[in-house]
Amino acid sequence: MTKADTIIPITLPTPFDVGPVNCFLLKGEAVTLIDSGPKTHEARELLLASLNEHGLKFEDLDQYICTHYHPDHAGLSKEIQEAGVQTIMLKEAVPYVSGNSEFLKWTESFYTKLYSHFGVPDSFGRLELVKLKKLRSYMSTFTPDLTALPGEAVPGHSGFIFLKTPGHAPDHLALYHEEQGIFIGGDVLLPHISSNALLEPPALYETKRPKTLLQYRETLKNLLTLNLRTVYPGHGEPFSNASELIQKRLHDQEERAKTIENLLGQDSLTVFDLCVRLFPKLFERQLGLVVSEVAGHLDLLLDENRIMKDENQGLFYFSQTGAIR
Ligand SMILES: [Zn+2]
Repeated sequence: MTKADTIIPITLPTPFDVGPVNCFLLKGEAVTLIDSGPKTHEARELLLASLNEHGLKFEDLDQYICTHYHPDHAGLSKEIQEAGVQTIMLKEAVPYVSGNSEFLKWTESFYTKLYSHFGVPDSFGRLELVKLKKLRSYMSTFTPDLTALPGEAVPGHSGFIFLKTPGHAPDHLALYHEEQGIFIGGDVLLPHISSNALLEPPALYETKRPKTLLQYRETLKNLLTLNLRTVYPGHGEPFSNASELIQKRLHDQEERAKTIENLLGQDSLTVFDLCVRLFPKLFERQLGLVVSEVAGHLDLLLDENRIMKDENQGLFYFSQTGAIR
């Protein structure tokens, strides 16, 4: 058995509701930073100070791996890359992090159209687009040097492989060491909150949006087959009860789907109607998350043929398969 690599958590503040984010310094044959925190002064200073405690600057890193494009994880990527550090992500991240203007336009028109199909009032929809833009201000655009291949060995860290773990984000990447049961999992599995399977646009010029909750459930089910002894999450403390937590997340999703199925009753409702009924207090402040949550669970119910979707004057209506209409 080879000597275990050292995993050093570096926890950085974020301006987001999720709270602090964990980056990790992985020291083995190579010295690797995993994730970098948001592009804020506080996060940058603390990241530099934490690396300094280990006698490191950005340029001393052998490589930088970013788990997914969200700004709490990818925010300082560009600066690290500019220090000459090989920057690794999945290829799915490229349109999101590279600031591709065509993709940005595509994304905006996707959300605008989808929200209108979902019955979201225009003013709310516009506000969500503003929020999305603000989120992007917490990272600088860059293009990864190397795209990780799922199943491939992580350079310089014997026994670690890359895993593609989509659902929370389409480009989600994790590191896994089978023998030691170590999973450096970004936001795939968090100890204190369930990861939202956020709505995402289809790839440029493709027509079907990915069913992110279904993808996420697939990812969770795959993880159940692995040897996960210690999970190092992107938020919260490391934990060891991974399979219990995965079962709970899957179960909670099924329960939420049931709640939505019951809410539909004999009615035909839009996504927005369901958002208001299911999250009467939260929907205004967190509309993006709430819409993703409801739409994701509707995808699950549709997939299981428990509900139907009809379109009428540009609005999508959902109803129980057995409803009398
Ligand atoms: Zn996160």
